[in-house]
Amino acid sequence: MTDIFSQNKRSDIMSNIGNKDTKPELRIRSLLHQMGYRFRLHRKDLPGKPDIVLPKYKTVIFIHGCYWHRHTCKKGRSTPTSNREFWEEKFSKNIERDKRNLVELKNIGWNIITIWQCELKNMEKIQSRLKSHLK
Ligand SMILES: [Zn+2]
Repeated sequence: MTDIFSQNKRSDIMSNIGNKDTKPELRIRSLLHQMGYRFRLHRKDLPGKPDIVLPKYKTVIFIHGCYWHRHTCKKGRSTPTSNREFWEEKFSKNIERDKRNLVELKNIGWNIITIWQCELKNMEKIQSRLKSHLK
């Protein structure tokens, strides 16, 4: 079988899945843009590499996939039926990591907004939430 991607290209593609420039993040970015906010992306020097950083408001935004970050919604509570233990361990590590990052960010004076993927169904609600946080 012919591989249509070179090795490097393929690993780029793989590493982007569920990571940078996912669609929900793009939607939030364009919303912020429309609202006139200026922001930076994926600052590696901050705990948890927040998806969006608004330095002027000392605020970071995380856009979390419900499944991986275990939101309390239906999707976030579902677990694969096979290899259950493996997944549960993986998930609890994600939760721990998220918590740790939030604590560290708060300790150094950042405000945090977490937007869950399922919340993107109601962009107006997100917009008013962002407005009330960012002023
Ligand atoms: Zn959710």
